[in-house]
Amino acid sequence: MTRTMGSKNEKRRQLRSGCRRVTDQPRPAEPSHYPRDKRDLETALGDSRQCRRYCEQLNWSSGFRCPECGDTTEPWRTSTGLIACRACRHAVMIERGTIFQRPSAPLNRWFQVLWEVADREACMSVEQVRETMGLPTDEAASRCLASIRQTMGLAEQRPLSGVVELGRACLELPGMMLEESWLRKGLVAIAVERTGAAGQLGETGPLRIQHLAGQDTSDGLAFAGTAIELGSEVHTLAWEGYAQLADAGFQHRIRRPEHAASSGVDHVASLLELWLWTQSDVDWSSLQSHLDEFTFRFNHRSEPSGRTFQRLVSCALRQADANLALPGRDLLRSA
Ligand SMILES: [Zn+2]
Repeated sequence: MTRTMGSKNEKRRQLRSGCRRVTDQPRPAEPSHYPRDKRDLETALGDSRQCRRYCEQLNWSSGFRCPECGDTTEPWRTSTGLIACRACRHAVMIERGTIFQRPSAPLNRWFQVLWEVADREACMSVEQVRETMGLPTDEAASRCLASIRQTMGLAEQRPLSGVVELGRACLELPGMMLEESWLRKGLVAIAVERTGAAGQLGETGPLRIQHLAGQDTSDGLAFAGTAIELGSEVHTLAWEGYAQLADAGFQHRIRRPEHAASSGVDHVASLLELWLWTQSDVDWSSLQSHLDEFTFRFNHRSEPSGRTFQRLVSCALRQADANLALPGRDLLRSA
């Protein structure tokens, strides 16, 4: 059957409309230096003033550039963290619009927590976060952890490409399998980039995971549209939910069930389930944030802790792209 180019483009547009987008603006190159260990962190980023300068370097790798007028003269800096352009007096605050704003805590305390998160295989407990940041309540510490997991989700924006394996898994989570709706609620979609040449799967590379709302066959296509670059070679098992992948612009390959031993999706699902069993605060409402954390840790498991820390700080700042520029005079008055 012949299909028109118009209908294909429409399908691609529909697929892309569901993408999670943070920003389309290119980010500047990040500084090559990052803390090598905890002692280095405490020396180089031990107080909030040092932390703000580090954030400045991540934001403006070639030096300050006023987002309002483009002036590159060294700006004014106040003790409260305000950075003001000398040419137009436009002011920005590094923490504004980022996770560092709430709960309110000194920036160097936030950096200590991000270091601990980057340096461990699992997240800190609520009690550890509360103690490290000097927060008054467990609720504030929980909000801090939720923000960090959200930041981890922002780190994984690049669509997978090349050869990608796509599949679904039903997670068996502690205490949740007794619920009647478990089979529907525990369903996740997993996409794994493989390093093999076309037609072969090869080693397991970066991945994306999404908690599915139910058994809707449209979920498979919608997830592929957000997680995988169009034109990629996508390997799946035979399922009606994947029947339109080729029409949507992917090179669809159907994998035979007897090749399950080499399935990256099954391997990732097993690791994910084991990891979730070690987490104490997983429930249905927070499952996606835990999936984002697992994805972040898996994708960056081989890099140094300092590089992962820098990635977290950089992603936290990325959240502020839309909010970074503030009305200068008002802030200068209140500083
Ligand atoms: Zn300016």
